[in-house]
Parts: sequence; structure tokens; C-alpha cells
Amino acid sequence: MSFFYSGIWIQLMILIGEVTLFFILGMLLAAVALAIIAAASITRGKFYLPRILIPGMVLLEGLVKAFCKLLGLDDKDLVTFFITLRNTMNTKAFSETPVEQRAIFLPQCLRSAQCPANLTPEGLKCRNCGRCSVGKNVVWLESIGYRVFIVPGSTFIKRMVKKYHPQAIIGVGCLMEIKDGIEMSDRIGLVAIGVVNLKDGCVETIADWAAVRDAALLGLKPPSDAVDFHGPAE
Ligand code: SF4
Repeated sequence: MSFFYSGIWIQLMILIGEVTLFFILGMLLAAVALAIIAAASITRGKFYLPRILIPGMVLLEGLVKAFCKLLGLDDKDLVTFFITLRNTMNTKAFSETPVEQRAIFLPQCLRSAQCPANLTPEGLKCRNCGRCSVGKNVVWLESIGYRVFIVPGSTFIKRMVKKYHPQAIIGVGCLMEIKDGIEMSDRIGLVAIGVVNLKDGCVETIADWAAVRDAALLGLKPPSDAVDFHGPAE
């Protein structure tokens, strides 16, 4: 009698089948539970059970997103939540990265429509002309040690990452840009923190400078002569 018709083989196959079934059921149940926690966090504006949610999301992100959609969550809310979650997951590693190994990428749509700066192979070179709030923020970010790039798109980001090898980055932009940027960073092994703009669009968008400053200071001591950028954005 062939081994494949033996009792041992059949028992083994049944066991493997049962384990696989329980594993799949377990994953589905865990994803449903995580989706419910995520939905409650989004609808109540509070981060519930982050110690369960964060590792759970690492394992089951795709499934949880699918269940969140089934629970009727809006795409925008879902993307915002996942950016917040990713930022939370990356905060520790970001804080532990020396500032010399960090970079920040600002979108060029933040500049004034009358911006006199020129586009160079390393992005826009801000002249701090005072026409928009990019100038003084770039000065501040550079004063605490950041390499700052004002870029027209993700191609520039990839090129600068390839050239300067930062280990951690802050990305500023609209919701979908941040989502794509965080995913791209995950793929290339960069620690990323995303800051979503207060006003979207193609020209004269507005960054959440207070959030940019807070992210930039993660793991650093605030400079003694720091300017308070928590005032209203220009
Ligand atoms: S501050 Fe910089 S980015 Fe803003 S308009 Fe002037 S040169 Fe352009």
C-alpha cells in the first residue's frame, strides 16, 4: 500500500486541514475585532487599545481595512486613521534616530503663488522672501539640524533618499500623498512620520506647521531660542 493511502498520512492531512481552518478563522475573527476597535476609535476620535491595535495592524492590515469598509467607514476617515496609527507605530523609532539622519520633505504647493525661488535638481531653494510661511519654517527646521527639501513630487523624494540616505523622514502633504509616502517608506525601510496639510489644493496650500514642529522635535530637546509656530498658519 502506498504511503499516501496510509492511515498516518490521512491523519496528518486532516490535522493540517484543521489547523489551517482554525488559523484562517482566528485571523478573520482577529481582523473583525481590530476593525471594530478601529471603527470605535475613528467615530469617537479616541485611540482605543493601541497595544492591541498596533501589532494587530502590522499582521492584518489588509483584512482590517476590508472589514472597516464593510462597517461603513468613510475612505477619508480610514486613511486619516491609518496615518495616525502609522505615525504612532513609528514614533519610537523616529525619536531614536539622530537628527543628522533625518530629513523633511515639504510639497512645493505650500509656497506663495509669487514665489521667486527656482527649482533645482534638489527641489525648490527657498529664499525666505517672506511671501509665505515656508521660509521661516525651513530656517527653524534647519536650525535644529534637519535636512529640508521642498519638492514637486515623489520622484524627487526617492532621488534625495537615494542620495542622502536619511533613516527617518517627515513628509508633509495632502492626505493621499501622505498615505502613499508612508507606504513607499515602508517598502524602502524608512521610518516615516506624516503630517497632513490643513488646506489641500494645487497652489498655496497650508501646512499644519504646529504638527510639523511637534513631529520635528520628537526625541530632541526644543532649542532655547525656538520660535512658537503654534500660532495660526499663514
Ligand atoms: S518664503 Fe520661500 S517658498 Fe515662500 S514664497 Fe518666499 S522663496 Fe518661495
